[in-house]
Amino acid sequence: MNESSAGAGGAENYSPEVVHLYERLKSVNEKRGYFFNPDLPMTMDLIAGLITNKERYGYMCCPCRLAANDREADRDIICPCDYRTPDVEEYGACYCALYVSQEWIDGAIPHLTVPERRPPEKQGW
Ligand code: SF4
Repeated sequence: MNESSAGAGGAENYSPEVVHLYERLKSVNEKRGYFFNPDLPMTMDLIAGLITNKERYGYMCCPCRLAANDREADRDIICPCDYRTPDVEEYGACYCALYVSQEWIDGAIPHLTVPERRPPEKQGW
C-alpha cells in the first residue's frame, strides 16, 4: 500500500486544516482515479498552498501558478484545473504533480516534468 492510499500517515506534522482538506479531497478524487502524489511532504505543502490561495483569493487556485485574483480569469486554474484530465491522461500527473495516476505511482510510466498546458495569453498576470 502506498502512502496516498494509506491516509495522511505522519499527519501530526501538519495542521488540522491541511489534514482535513487532504482527507476530503482524497476521498472524492480517488473514486475518480486521481490519487495524491505519495510524496507526502510535497503533497501537504501543495494542499497548504490551496488553503492559502482560498484565503487570499476566495477560491482554491492552483498552488503552482500565478493567479489574477479574478475568479473568471482564474476559472481554468481553480483546482482541479481544466488541464488535470489531459495531463494525467498523457503524463500520469497534473502540472503540480499533486494528482497522479495509479500507473504513475506504480512506476509503470516515466515521471516526466509536465509542461504547462495553459494558453500563454492566460499566463503572466
Ligand atoms: S495542476 Fe494539479 S494542483 Fe494545480 S490546479 Fe491543476 S490539478 Fe490542481
